[in-house]
Amino acid sequence: MDPFRLVVDGRRVPTKRCFEVLNPANEKRAGLAPLARKKDLDVAVRAARRAFEKWRDVPEAKRQAACLKIAAKIEKNAEELARLLTAEQGKPLNGLGSRWEIGGAVAWTRYTAGLSLPVKVLQDNDEGRVELHRKPIGVVGSITPWNFPVLIAIWHIVPAVLSGNTVVCKPSPFTPLSTLRLVELMNEVLPRGVVNCVTGKDRLGAAMAAHEGIGKIVFTGSCATGQQIMARAADTMKRLTLELGGNDAGIVLPDVDPKEIAEGLFWGAFINGGQTCAALKRLYVHDDVYDEVCDELVAFARKMKVGKGTNENAVIGPIQNRKQYDVVAGLVRSAKSKGRVLLGGKPAKIRKKTGGKGYFYPLTIIADLDNGDRLVDEEQFGPVLPIIRYRRIEDAIDRANDNPNGLGGSVWSRNAEKAKRIADKLECGSVWINKHGMIQPNAPFGGVKHSGFGVEFGEEGLQEYTDIQVVFS
Ligand code: NAD
Repeated sequence: MDPFRLVVDGRRVPTKRCFEVLNPANEKRAGLAPLARKKDLDVAVRAARRAFEKWRDVPEAKRQAACLKIAAKIEKNAEELARLLTAEQGKPLNGLGSRWEIGGAVAWTRYTAGLSLPVKVLQDNDEGRVELHRKPIGVVGSITPWNFPVLIAIWHIVPAVLSGNTVVCKPSPFTPLSTLRLVELMNEVLPRGVVNCVTGKDRLGAAMAAHEGIGKIVFTGSCATGQQIMARAADTMKRLTLELGGNDAGIVLPDVDPKEIAEGLFWGAFINGGQTCAALKRLYVHDDVYDEVCDELVAFARKMKVGKGTNENAVIGPIQNRKQYDVVAGLVRSAKSKGRVLLGGKPAKIRKKTGGKGYFYPLTIIADLDNGDRLVDEEQFGPVLPIIRYRRIEDAIDRANDNPNGLGGSVWSRNAEKAKRIADKLECGSVWINKHGMIQPNAPFGGVKHSGFGVEFGEEGLQEYTDIQVVFS
């Protein structure tokens, strides 16, 4: 599909300069992405604005039908998209990797296409009729991270266009290629200008946050960037949905069967090599089952193959980029003196196995850590899990909440009612019982505290792309 182009006003648009996108499995070029400048962004925003004037008045049923066509397009081109995704992101084709992500994009698009924003009658009596209408905002700017580039783009774009907005999206400079291709495919079924894609460095995102022609930013990424976007968006009073970092805690009660929960704990923590916003990032285990849970989790993790994404047997790929690799390696180094390394922790070994190139990091589990240790307090966003021992449930809850983030959390127990009582005390947007991170398109998802505000998915997620107009008659 090389060369890649911007997608603006229904056309593939070249830029003067390009930037290199690396394949994290071999550090070689995965492709060249167009380097958009502010001028290109302006053109894209103008195109989106022109398209909005018509798209907003297209009946909802037609917009729903268009979203179904997007789902069919993605499905038809699934293998091409999955391979491109693996080449730039690193995740395996198999397991919960690229093919799964593209399948998720199809499923999410189909489900979202069935949502609707009917007029709500608040009052209808002798004193008058009051109707609540949901109006599209205008041009939505979507800024995405590098961990699930296709799925997160879908999460932003589909509800935006379904509710009558038009979009300018900007993927992460680490993984722009699959999004460019995705938007090309969307443009085969949408009117020109409804979805546009510009690629460039971080400053392009900053320009979007301040842009006068953009009415809302939906952003998924780090807390620090979310704060910058919020500050830059203030002058133009933009609507914001901020899905930011997480440092999810899991609490294991003494009544569990350690063998039974090992698989759920593993995937909760290591899905996408731990590069998942709502992954399990700190595990609090009761003293009574501590050693057994550690043993079972390590035994399960040992069976999981880390390797190149194109290796059909691999279920975990490399870390996506060098910067993140260094963050993960630094956090593990800081944890080694205090904790007990149960698994992994030695990157040199795995580099040898994978040919000496690529940002491969071994699955790593470190026990006997506590709050106050960097690996517990900071988001690792990589294939590393700290385990913390507790004796009193109140202490576990306090320590789980003792963090600025509040995205997700989980409680592991045979007693669902007891688990729910503990869930009630956790400061986070989603809580799972005996699983972790299982988001779904019919349930709103979002963070509290520094993990952001606003939700995605379901009716509540769709409403975020609208302003309310109340009509009194
Ligand atoms: P990041 O914040 O560095 O980058 C995300 C996007 O923001 C990229 O497209 C980047 O180019 C852009 N950007 C960077 N600086 C900007 C600025 N000043 N203004 C506007 N845009 C700017 O995040 P990342 O490293 O790509 O992703 C990892 C982080 O994302 C983790 O913290 C993770 O927890 C979080 N995340 C959250 C969710 C969620 O749903 N809550 C989902 C996935 C990832």
